[in-house]
Amino acid sequence: MSTISPERWWDAETLEPRRWGPLIEPVVQLLEICRDRERFPPSLVLVGPDGLGRELAATEAAALLTCPGTRPRGCGCSSCGRVRRGTHPDVTLVLPQGPGQMIRIEQVREVVEAVSGRPFEAPRRVWIVDGVEVGRLGVEAANAFLKTLEEPPEHAVFLLLAANPDSVLPTIRSRSQQLVLPGSLAAAAQLDCGELPPELASAALRGGAPAETADLAREAVTATSADDEVLHLIRCAHRCREDAHAFQTVAAVAVELATADPASAEGLVTLAADLLAAERSSQVLNLNRERQILSCLLRWFRGL
Ligand SMILES: [Zn+2]
Repeated sequence: MSTISPERWWDAETLEPRRWGPLIEPVVQLLEICRDRERFPPSLVLVGPDGLGRELAATEAAALLTCPGTRPRGCGCSSCGRVRRGTHPDVTLVLPQGPGQMIRIEQVREVVEAVSGRPFEAPRRVWIVDGVEVGRLGVEAANAFLKTLEEPPEHAVFLLLAANPDSVLPTIRSRSQQLVLPGSLAAAAQLDCGELPPELASAALRGGAPAETADLAREAVTATSADDEVLHLIRCAHRCREDAHAFQTVAAVAVELATADPASAEGLVTLAADLLAAERSSQVLNLNRERQILSCLLRWFRGL
């Protein structure tokens, strides 16, 4: 039995096209252009938070690469349909396994062994490895992968998924091209923060640098009702609390607000005091700091 990936494929919710399709459309469009110009990189790191469209982007990329008719994205042929259901023989998903949720060296060895085999029916074989960052792919497993990544057979394409570009092992990064997917701020906007200023949503969608997004946030705040915008951003930050990008944006707006509006500034000062107190008590009591800070944020958010 294959050790590569017993679960075989992602569930339908993770791949929900109505939810994630619009978010990843620009990325899939770019990948389609690469394929059509025969410039698709043999090894591509797709960077983005997991569970927020990254899996659908990888699936659609695999469909583009294996579609026998080389048809446009969104093709509904039987080959593309099987890719989306996880039953295409030329598309293999390598998922992390075990209690540590790691890509195991046995899985990598199995990929390396299988990679020279010709495609069964498609123009290419695609290998999707879900999690190539430190903590999910060990150094030993990564090393087992390097020679194959360096000199892949012509028919093989590797789609490597990572949440954070900085956490991808340098040896993998240097052998791959990288494409940044929309971050969790954009995903939150897509999900339930529809009133997020459009400038912000589009900046996040372009993968704009935090500084650029923060500048746009500042402009949005001065141009419209500050309270509403900050509420939306805090809602986003709550959803994306592990995303430094989102938090930096909120912070930039908060500083701007505190300067411009004394009433809001009072709430912000209370929040800052709460955060400090939480940090202190977490140090004293050894509590989970993230949970404490989050509960302070929520308390402030509800109290507004
Ligand atoms: Zn097709």
